[in-house]
Amino acid sequence: MPKITYKSAEEIELIRESSLLVSKTHAEVAKVIKEGVSTAYLNKIAEEFIRDHKAVPAFLNYNGFPYTLCISLNDQVVHGFPSEYILKDGDIVSVDCGVIKNKYFGDSAYTFTIGNIAEETQKLLDVTKECLALGIEKAVVGSRIGDIGFAVQEHAEKNGFGVVRELVGHGVGRALHEKPEVPNYGKRGSGIKLEEGMVLAIEPMINAGRAGVKFWDDGWTVSTIDQKPSAHFEHTVAIKKGKADVLSTFEYVEEVLNKK
Ligand code: MG
Ligand code: MG
Repeated sequence: MPKITYKSAEEIELIRESSLLVSKTHAEVAKVIKEGVSTAYLNKIAEEFIRDHKAVPAFLNYNGFPYTLCISLNDQVVHGFPSEYILKDGDIVSVDCGVIKNKYFGDSAYTFTIGNIAEETQKLLDVTKECLALGIEKAVVGSRIGDIGFAVQEHAEKNGFGVVRELVGHGVGRALHEKPEVPNYGKRGSGIKLEEGMVLAIEPMINAGRAGVKFWDDGWTVSTIDQKPSAHFEHTVAIKKGKADVLSTFEYVEEVLNKK
């Protein structure tokens, strides 16, 4: 297994640049996402935007993944394919995006809503985003990797939701998926110590119902076993003393959504 790579301040700035481009790509998606639009169109908008900014879509061709975005609808957890599916009222849409610029990766995911969604589904989205914030609070020097997972799991389960175990967060740098793994479950004080120079993608995947997932025979799509909805929010963060440095942001996407 490759070891954890620790990043210099200069490298962290390059990862920030890539992460902010991902965040701006989410804002481009936000401008066009609505009832009646295909998810393939969202993928096209994102790919053009990334290439216009002299970067490369990181997921496209990654282990053979065929698209720029992972678009996961409703009961799909992650790694869904963009398609001719037309978005409809009540859908939730996880849009996961990565880019490579100056040889460094950025990775972030946001779950969008279409029209009016069920109250319980809105609660799932709110709690999942809170889980991400609670995980990020623990992404500081002196914590251990299990502190992040514990914080995410405790909040999700307190609200009656299931925490996906089969997929986890990860280190980010010159590769999309580096060591260490960042599970969304765990024991307080367990796992490796977090140190300055580590850059992690923290990405709670939280299910409205049971935690269990199934893997589709397209080789990629993951969905919930009980077919209840699943939500996904992700930031790329640098470990710091006192407070994590969040390299991606939801500010751009939410600025667009709040104007709609
Ligand atoms: Mg991602
Ligand atoms: Mg990720």
